[in-house]
Amino acid sequence: MKSCKIKISGRVQGVGFRPFVYRLAKSLDLTGWVLNSTGSVEILIQGSEANIRNFIDALSHDPPPLSHIENIFEEIVEESTYTDFSIIKSREDKGFNFISPDIAICDDCLRELRDPHDRRFGYPFINCTNCGPRYTIIEDLPYDREKTTMKVFKMCEACNEEYHNPISRRFHAQPDACSVCGPHLWIDSLNIPESNLFKEIGKLLYEGQILAIKGIGGFHIACDATNESAVERLRNNKKRRSKPFALMMKDLDMIRRYCYVNNTEEKILRGKERPIVLLRIKDYLDLSPSIAPGNLYLGVMLPYAPYHYLIFDDFDRPIVMTSGNLSEEPIIKDNVEAKDKLKNIVDNFVLHNRNIRNRIDDSVVFVEDNDLTFVRRARGYAPDPLKVSIEVDPVLALGPELKNTFAIGSGNYVFMSPHIGDLKDLETLDVFEETIEDFIHLFRINPEILVHDLHPQYLSTEFAEKFKSFMKVVPVQHHRAHILSLLLDRDIGDPIIGFSFDGTGFGEDGNIWGGEVFVGNLRELHRAAHFKYFPMAGGDYSIENPKRIAYSYLFSNEIEDNGNYLPISPLEKDIIKSMIQNKKNIFYTSSCGRIFDMVSAILGVRSVVDYEGQAAVELEMCAMDSDTSAVYPFEIQKGSSLEIDILPMIKKILEDRQHINRSIIARQFHNTIAYIILSTAEILREKYHINKVGLSGGVFQNRLLLNILSPLLKESKFEVYTHRRIPPNDGGISLGQIALAMKGV
Ligand code: ZN
Ligand code: ZN
Ligand code: FE
Repeated sequence: MKSCKIKISGRVQGVGFRPFVYRLAKSLDLTGWVLNSTGSVEILIQGSEANIRNFIDALSHDPPPLSHIENIFEEIVEESTYTDFSIIKSREDKGFNFISPDIAICDDCLRELRDPHDRRFGYPFINCTNCGPRYTIIEDLPYDREKTTMKVFKMCEACNEEYHNPISRRFHAQPDACSVCGPHLWIDSLNIPESNLFKEIGKLLYEGQILAIKGIGGFHIACDATNESAVERLRNNKKRRSKPFALMMKDLDMIRRYCYVNNTEEKILRGKERPIVLLRIKDYLDLSPSIAPGNLYLGVMLPYAPYHYLIFDDFDRPIVMTSGNLSEEPIIKDNVEAKDKLKNIVDNFVLHNRNIRNRIDDSVVFVEDNDLTFVRRARGYAPDPLKVSIEVDPVLALGPELKNTFAIGSGNYVFMSPHIGDLKDLETLDVFEETIEDFIHLFRINPEILVHDLHPQYLSTEFAEKFKSFMKVVPVQHHRAHILSLLLDRDIGDPIIGFSFDGTGFGEDGNIWGGEVFVGNLRELHRAAHFKYFPMAGGDYSIENPKRIAYSYLFSNEIEDNGNYLPISPLEKDIIKSMIQNKKNIFYTSSCGRIFDMVSAILGVRSVVDYEGQAAVELEMCAMDSDTSAVYPFEIQKGSSLEIDILPMIKKILEDRQHINRSIIARQFHNTIAYIILSTAEILREKYHINKVGLSGGVFQNRLLLNILSPLLKESKFEVYTHRRIPPNDGGISLGQIALAMKGV
């Protein structure tokens, strides 16, 4: 007879770990106890040595499906004798926590939801230890019902029995509930009996109503995706002219009617994380043409909350499911706020009374070459920690201005926040500050270092300034942070040639960077190449007007827009000319994203945008119609830092524009960007003897570019690294910023 103490760290809370341990101990005739402490599960077992061994083997080889074990520590101890095995009270402890992300309804619960003989038949909030909300309902840790938003629901006798019954699937399932004791769903203005609720929701959708539906991590705005007038009305109400809407579809059969789905995509669509997957459109069929105008991909997800399934029982068409927010503000999570802010956008509200403590958007991903790439890492993934190869001091990295996420780190773990939004307004800033506080508290990390973007005018910089007297505050340049993110994401210790291509970021020389190449590693990166600067007249306003970027470029290079391709008035031309001549309100940029914008405008694809990246996205779509392999001329001027000059290409494009189909030009432009990267990498390999190439920044969300570029680099025997665990866009920046807190630097 031996006693053994075991401590297991990792994602072991909220995933049915204690019940699993309980059953395992019972089956092996072991006595003792199990408890949750902060960030770990502690166990004491007593029994024969062989059974203790079997117990530990089963723990490490066959743990509950949602758990993730980081470490098992075991030690033989002297203990008084226990006669039974029990789950005992949680204990608060030092060390940090892991919180499970929110998980889509499991097959067992789905079966019960459909079973007329089950007591949870049709219950919209059914869940168990293997599925349901987690992060979104957690107020504090250790993870117990009283520390979740479920604390207000007192379990009925039947639920209570399951909760305490070790052989039940709901043994210690904290969000456990049923229609007698748990949360409820209703339509706000209508008095509909529960038995008719989903029929009514279906009816409203069929009638073309726009509904705000409270979800797991926040509100969705929903309407019938095949009803053109409903979708148009939603666009008008939301003042969102053309940015694509995501869809929720009933099942894979429905998705396959509209989109191509390969095996990897199918697996991800059905996965427990249930992200939105960007799928190539097969046929629009009856879908409203306003869902994703000018786009060849659709963002689609499968139902993930039990009531999503119930909605589709009475509604047999794809549903628009866009985030319930105003423009780029954070997603709305509370009933009162939704009714206030969305009242002019939607016709009705589908509400429930399970409070969302922590908001989180749907995740967005795409699959290229069988690899998953994040566009947005949120529900289902966050706040799972990212393990990194370096050790960092306790740190808070404030992230970028657009698509903000922040990160906190300690040791070799980084917790990245879900998508917050664009940190341009005070409303978003409030949520940013609130979420930072929550993260610091939940994960028990007390930052000693604060990292922020170099841009002097960002709200995050202003925020950082306030802490200067309490802690070490370090700025980092945006494009460096992209490359650092990639190095941490892919665990790259060796030096690489890192391409950091995106729309915009404040450069170290005061110019607007965006087409930068760095050489080095996590400790030292130096800028080895960039696109030649060109003037951009009028800052942010010109970013919304690619035609003005194009005209600035042409005018400053003394090229005439002979064919009058740019829809730009003589007055606008004069304004731009005088700004450039007088060097007033001029920014110099090396941005690759702006080069995409410029070409998009010259080709007449998109001259004014209404969402970020639109001109480049539509240029990519236009190029997908051609398969030419031709390449435009460009120059790389050697010096201490290489300078990439696209003037020869732009001149040729203007010429071609007169007699060649614009798809061919657009494709040839993509080829040229790929060859620019290849040539730059080859020159730098020669100079620095580095064979690893990394790609980071929003430009590398361009799937056509990736498809052209990867084979070229591989053919030239480069090892190519792209992002895997975080997005290549600015949503991934905060991870890289963490590197500034590396120990021993
Ligand atoms: Zn379940
Ligand atoms: Zn109940
Ligand atoms: Fe960026």
